[in-house]
Amino acid sequence: MVVGKYDRFVHKYLKKTKRFKTLEEFEKGLDRMQKKDERKPVKLSFAIQKAPERKKIEKAPIEKKARQIKNKEIEEKKTIVIPDKFIKIAKKFGLPKDHLEFFYENRELFHFESMEKNDVHCSERTCNFTVKASPKCLVEHMITAHNYTDIPCEKIDCSYVAFSLSNSKHHKAKFHGHGQKPTEYGNHPCPYSSCKNFFRNPSHLQVHLNVHQNRVLSCSYCQYRNVRPDKLHDHLLVHFNLKNFACDICQRTFTTKKVLKKHKMIVHTTDDYICVDCGFVAQKFRSLETHRSTCKERLKFSRIL
Ligand SMILES: [Zn+2]
Ligand SMILES: [Zn+2]
Ligand SMILES: [Zn+2]
Ligand SMILES: [Zn+2]
Ligand SMILES: [Zn+2]
Ligand SMILES: [Zn+2]
Repeated sequence: MVVGKYDRFVHKYLKKTKRFKTLEEFEKGLDRMQKKDERKPVKLSFAIQKAPERKKIEKAPIEKKARQIKNKEIEEKKTIVIPDKFIKIAKKFGLPKDHLEFFYENRELFHFESMEKNDVHCSERTCNFTVKASPKCLVEHMITAHNYTDIPCEKIDCSYVAFSLSNSKHHKAKFHGHGQKPTEYGNHPCPYSSCKNFFRNPSHLQVHLNVHQNRVLSCSYCQYRNVRPDKLHDHLLVHFNLKNFACDICQRTFTTKKVLKKHKMIVHTTDDYICVDCGFVAQKFRSLETHRSTCKERLKFSRIL
């Protein structure tokens, strides 16, 4: 029956297409078609396997490129190549090795031909004391004029040693203070039990931990210490009185953008200052600062019981 059906079908087919194909050849053709059908699922499975591979190939170079760019940026920031010629000049003028990068970055502002012009200025805000640049040249002055002294952190688990009373107060408030508002929480808590800080970024936590472990950078002229290289850089700007930021209203010059901004807030702003937590209105910036340290609404978020 089956063969008969095929016969009739083939005859019709041959007539319709006007081709002279034998039944045998047609059956062979059927076999081939079946084999093709059997292969189909295999082919399909190959197609499925290949698809994600292609995606991976497309993604991989993009990820690599992004990483490479990031690494380059970090390298560029970290490694400033100081020419041998400059290192020789630095030696000649007795510049501290630890701050070579700072001197190289600001080399155009220094008068290396006459080092006497490069007096070191006291870094305390209201003091005009200057001294000829030499290692530790301000240490004695800081002790006698500004009561600088080493103050180890009171917390048993913290190894930080402050260099002055105000630095010690700042450390206490920032590292062992009332903690953060719930909106400021991060996923990385500081493991020190005396500290309530959280960080969003593990690298920020690492910098913070360096302070607890007293792994900080030191100024070569005075007792100043800070964990962050950019802060030490700004501190050195004060020692050499390098003021590159001018106020466009009164033409006074400042060491950093941040100090200029604060100057504008204090001197040139006539608007009232409002506490974001309780709505308290202050007419002077300094009054707001004082209020903020005692604002009950702000301290409500304290997590120290
Ligand atoms: Zn001073
Ligand atoms: Zn501490
Ligand atoms: Zn901490
Ligand atoms: Zn210093
Ligand atoms: Zn001004
Ligand atoms: Zn307030």
